Amino acid sequence: MLIALENIQKVYDTGEFKVPALAGVSFRIAAGEFVAIMGASGSGKSTLMNILGFLDRPTAGVYRFEDHDVSQLDRDARARLRRTKLGFVFQGFNLLKRQTAVENVELPLLYAGVPARERRERALRTLERVGLAQRARHLPSQLSGGQQQRVAIARALVNNPQVLLADEPTGNLDSRAGKELLADFQRMHVEHQQTILLVTHDPLVAKHADRVLTMRDGRVAADEMNAHSMEARGEDHRMQPKNAAMHGQPAAR
Ligand code: ADP
Ligand code: MG
Repeated sequence: MLIALENIQKVYDTGEFKVPALAGVSFRIAAGEFVAIMGASGSGKSTLMNILGFLDRPTAGVYRFEDHDVSQLDRDARARLRRTKLGFVFQGFNLLKRQTAVENVELPLLYAGVPARERRERALRTLERVGLAQRARHLPSQLSGGQQQRVAIARALVNNPQVLLADEPTGNLDSRAGKELLADFQRMHVEHQQTILLVTHDPLVAKHADRVLTMRDGRVAADEMNAHSMEARGEDHRMQPKNAAMHGQPAAR
């Protein structure tokens, strides 16, 4: 199993008070799945993504990645995993402003010690994959918001990560650019069997995913397969019972 969460909890301790952001989250994700994560603001989506993406650790519970317990790894070990296993796309594009598109995409390869020539080739190929080959030498300021976000996606993909995580990647885009970007995600999923976890508010996007996880108050309130993917994969594809049933939590309130 690619990802397995068991009763993950996260409590933020601000010193003054404690904020329970995740209150027992359990689910599994198989390689190749396209999962949309929905839920109201404050329901714990980003907290969940940060744990899944090794940016943060759970307060309690077990996170297994490729069958290894990664719940309590230290900062360095998590950074290593992040470099080798994942691509993360943020709502704000987080590009370096003085570096060209291709230089931005090369960064993860630089950290990984890939030689310059190979870096450039792989970065250009990945930009091509997101339809930006013609913009490789542009600075972020010379690109539209949608194009900048595609550079950020190329940067997340250049290492061939097992999983692509995206936390509201269309949040700063107008609706047309957002639509184009989501078409990119879908294409990556269909053509490259890329595993994708995507936080979105757009029900249309969620419709294109294989599966929709809905968060509410730090729990998984619903975990549903979309009809099209059940047809494609067979009804019994999902390997765990409903989250709520498994841990004796109350179902959707
Ligand atoms: P979402 O992404 O669904 O909007 P978050 O995961 O960002 O939700 O937040 C979940 C809860 O945790 C919210 O109540 C939020 O205020 C709280 N929270 C998030 N980050 C922190 C933090 N660093 N310190 C304290 N509380 C936090
Ligand atoms: Mg968020």
